[in-house]
Amino acid sequence: MKQFALKGLSVMSLRNRIALYYTIATGFLIAIVFTTIFFMVEKIVYKQFDDQIKKEISEILADSNISPDNFQGFDSFRDIDADHTSEKGDNRDEEHKHKRRKLKVDTEFIQLVNRDGEVINKSASLSWCVLAFNPNQSGTSYFDSNFGGSMVRQAQVPLNSADGKNEGYLIVAVPLKNALIVLHDLKDIFLFSFPVILLPLFLLTRSIAIKSISPIEKVIATAEKMSQSNLDQRIPLPFHHDELYRLASTINALFGRMQDAFQREKHFTADASHELKTPLAVVKGTLEVLIRKPREREHYESRIQFCLKELNRMAHLIEQLLMLARYESNKMTPRIVVVPLDPLLDSVVERMMPTAQAKGIAITLNHTEQVKIAADPGMLEMIVENILSNAIKYSSSSSSITIEVARSENNVVCTISDQGIGIPAEKLHAIFDRFYRVDESRSSSTGGLGLGLSIVKKLADLQQIRVSVNSVTDKGTTFTLTCPAAESRYPMEMSC
Ligand code: ADP
Repeated sequence: MKQFALKGLSVMSLRNRIALYYTIATGFLIAIVFTTIFFMVEKIVYKQFDDQIKKEISEILADSNISPDNFQGFDSFRDIDADHTSEKGDNRDEEHKHKRRKLKVDTEFIQLVNRDGEVINKSASLSWCVLAFNPNQSGTSYFDSNFGGSMVRQAQVPLNSADGKNEGYLIVAVPLKNALIVLHDLKDIFLFSFPVILLPLFLLTRSIAIKSISPIEKVIATAEKMSQSNLDQRIPLPFHHDELYRLASTINALFGRMQDAFQREKHFTADASHELKTPLAVVKGTLEVLIRKPREREHYESRIQFCLKELNRMAHLIEQLLMLARYESNKMTPRIVVVPLDPLLDSVVERMMPTAQAKGIAITLNHTEQVKIAADPGMLEMIVENILSNAIKYSSSSSSITIEVARSENNVVCTISDQGIGIPAEKLHAIFDRFYRVDESRSSSTGGLGLGLSIVKKLADLQQIRVSVNSVTDKGTTFTLTCPAAESRYPMEMSC
């Protein structure tokens, strides 16, 4: 049963669930309020009756000159009651008559019993009936009892003699019929109005819930419409700047990022296959021409050299693509340690020196002070190597490249400046994009793939190194690496 209810709830729509929970909670509160009101009214009604009976008792006792504490004039009470019952007593004075009238004998029942419960006297209103007597009640008590088929509220008061001996009981009752009808009607009204309130409440809450969650419906509709070829769909933002507005704008932002990612992926695949197809086509074409007829040995050698160059380019491209894929899928995490920057720069410069010298380019390394940074040495070497190789690639012979290192607050700033062809200002923003080449012709002549700087950017981001570039066409380019100084990351280690 419980499982069935849980299953029912799990397939229930959100709007119905909100309406149901709200209605249950409100129904519970209404039930508490109705029950409280009913019991309060019942208590007030009974208090009224009890007060009325109490007043009657004191009037009767005063009238008959007896009291529960001072049992005198028991007989006189009998006289009065007998008179009261028979409506005789012509000799009574005016005051007595007046009091008698006030007793409202038609709506009240008065009965006098001895200590054994035998009726000694009773009011005319009781006719041949007697009021219930409870022998177990020693003090004054109020209770409901059935009298001639209808309910009465009655009080039973012990009448004691002067020496404290119980002589009998005075029993006074009033009919409850009208009050019970009112209470019964009140209960019926509450029981009837309960579902009458709850049903419209459920429908009203449901319609409010439908309106409130309509942006969610739009999210669902938009997400359902979305496909790889249709990523420009966006959720209309709701009017109110509430949680649903935030949800819609967050999902829109997510859609935006997904669109960008898909777009990049699409371009990447297209660019990568284009880059691979070109050398493959060149190699295939060259070999097909070669095989058509026998040729001179020198011709074969030069064509094979050409094919090898193209295949090397392909191998390099594949290597770089794999590296990028590894970094982008976060499979490679940097191993950040304290790195003395100067030896690292020395070793990169030493490796690049032959290429630079072949072009007649001078590389100057300016050490100002011995600095240490927090970085992954392997990744940092790759960054410097890529920037330096570009500087050599895009510089004319007999120019020079300068590497400078300086401290700046918590950072170490390393600049690599060349006097090469430079990058046009309007193209600077894109040079870190994958497969972006400022000028196809100059890149292809230098064997550029447009991947070097995107790898630099990725590696720098992984190590929290900032890369920026300044360039003036035909004057030169400066790349700036702002690296976290080792002291800022490892203060304890540095002080030891
Ligand atoms: P590539 O392999 O084509 O050099 P990169 O990603 O390394 O690809 O560089 C992107 C583009 O930025 C290159 O096509 C090149 O035109 C330009 N570039 C990079 N470094 C320099 C530089 N030092 N001087 C002039 N242009 C540069």
